[in-house]
Amino acid sequence: MKAYMAFPICSLIFITLLTIAYFLKPKIKSMEISIYKWLISFNIVGLILEILCYFAVDTANEHYLISITILKLYIVYIFIWSMIFNSYVWMVAKNYSENSKESIKKFDFLKNITITISTFFSIFLMFLPIKIYNDGKFCYTYGPITTVLIISLFIIVSIWIVLCIKNYKKLKKKKYIPIIACVLTLIVVLIIQSYDRSILIATTGHSLIVLLMYFTIENPDVKMIKELNAAKDQAEKANRAKTDFLSNMSHEIRTPLNAIVGFSECMLDSSDLKETKEYAADIVDASNQLLEIVNGILDISKIEANKVEIIPKNYNPREIFNGLRKLVLPRIKEKPIEFKMFFSPDLPGILRGDVAKIKQIILNILTNAAKYTDKGEIIFNVNCINRLDTKTCLMYISVKDTGHGIKKDKLETIFGKFERVDEEKNTTTEGTGLGLAITKGLVDLMGGRITVFSKYGEGSTFRIYLEQEIINMDIPDNEEVEEQEINYIDYKGKEILIVDDSKINLKVAETLMKPYNFNIETALSGLEAIEKINNKKYDLIFMDIMMPNLNGVETLYKLRENEDFTTPVVALTADAIEGTDEKYLNVGFNSYLSKPIDRKLLNKVINKYLGGK
Ligand code: ADP
Repeated sequence: MKAYMAFPICSLIFITLLTIAYFLKPKIKSMEISIYKWLISFNIVGLILEILCYFAVDTANEHYLISITILKLYIVYIFIWSMIFNSYVWMVAKNYSENSKESIKKFDFLKNITITISTFFSIFLMFLPIKIYNDGKFCYTYGPITTVLIISLFIIVSIWIVLCIKNYKKLKKKKYIPIIACVLTLIVVLIIQSYDRSILIATTGHSLIVLLMYFTIENPDVKMIKELNAAKDQAEKANRAKTDFLSNMSHEIRTPLNAIVGFSECMLDSSDLKETKEYAADIVDASNQLLEIVNGILDISKIEANKVEIIPKNYNPREIFNGLRKLVLPRIKEKPIEFKMFFSPDLPGILRGDVAKIKQIILNILTNAAKYTDKGEIIFNVNCINRLDTKTCLMYISVKDTGHGIKKDKLETIFGKFERVDEEKNTTTEGTGLGLAITKGLVDLMGGRITVFSKYGEGSTFRIYLEQEIINMDIPDNEEVEEQEINYIDYKGKEILIVDDSKINLKVAETLMKPYNFNIETALSGLEAIEKINNKKYDLIFMDIMMPNLNGVETLYKLRENEDFTTPVVALTADAIEGTDEKYLNVGFNSYLSKPIDRKLLNKVINKYLGGK
């Protein structure tokens, strides 16, 4: 009979070594690991008890109480080990995740339930009677304690089977291997014990399962390394994107700046008026290019920060799109390109939508078509599907060109930030790769859709679909003619105050307002402005917003404290990041102008407040 002891003795040696190796390794805290620690530790206790059981049955006559206690403890061990393993099965089947607070809570509950049931049931088992059968050949225990153990094991295993069946689709996962092994071991133990009940083999079976779990539980080292590598990759990627962005931007910003500085120096040296005017025209071109880049960066940051608002206005689509044509034609320059424009007769006369953003979207697409086409044609088509019952229409705009085209594998990426494709071919074409990212951001914001179809070397077609509200189907015939030249009105005798902390900005504003012939005074801070306003009555005040100490808004609040102060104040803003500029009207400014100041808008504001038309 003692020959059977070879099983638990070998298992004990092996599991002790495995336990030492396991506990010496650094580990992270996880649910699986905490269960595994209990299983492996209890397995050692069980193996020692199993070896002692062989002696206990032999010496039961001499040391009855000790023998009975050892045999009962062995039975209690089998129950407790099965309960711990039950919590593993439960955890795997219910897919508890380390990252979910909910799962961690449930796991704690499972742990408490397991401890409570194991404690009370073990005490109950210890009080049940046990009998020993020994006929010299076979020797085993029986009685109520073994019957209760078998029934409780039957219930526990049934729970495992139900959980496995419910999650049969996941059974392939390696975490289920120990569960299947455990059920199989139980069957083997039952077969062996039905042949000879004196062979104690259950604990060796547990050792086998513990060994299997050693390879199937999440390896903390590998997991930690993987997580660290993923974090490292992400950090490197973010760093690379930042570096790419900075080098791209510094290149893009330096190019027009270089032109501005270069031509300005040439202007200083030149004495010929015609030449000077040409330099000035180049400076204006480069400045506009610079402004476009800066606006692009601000637009994309606004879109990403969800700070862009939809501001619907009524507009005449024909008038708006015709206006865009005027802006695109200079981009075509001398290239042999025919620009064609078609409006569907169904296009309503007046629509309502965010016309400023629609203009920006179409202008981006048309500018690209002009940039990336060398010859042929650009066809701009506006179609419409009108739903008169809901007073809405689906505006469907397409821009087709016979340009460079885009390679098929690049079609997906062109809407990404800073994505420029075919750089070898487009090296001479200016661009930041922001245009289409902004365009897509704005189209998405308006609930629309943008698609691209392109054949490399043959041309591209961009299509935009936007839902708009129909205000009027009739086409207005008195289309407003856009004022080309500014008619400066003589405002001699009017008093103007410009407040800005930057001397250069003051100089620019003064120069722009010179043609009006009014009396201009300047102030370099909010405090200086307040002092001047308290001593003199002005007809119009232009106030910069971003000033140190007392900013434009604070200065205005201080001025408005005086009830006699009625002079109109116009905000000058360069802050395009936060929301819309209209917030300045809400804080009490009469109007606003964004920098760089547009001469036509400035003219409108001046005429409005100084009594012109
Ligand atoms: P960019 O400032 O470079 O023009 P965009 O975001 O507007 O940036 O466009 C991204 C890239 O998509 C461009 O660099 C260009 O390679 C490609 N692209 C955009 N429109 C066209 C077009 N109509 N024809 C060919 N290529 C185009």
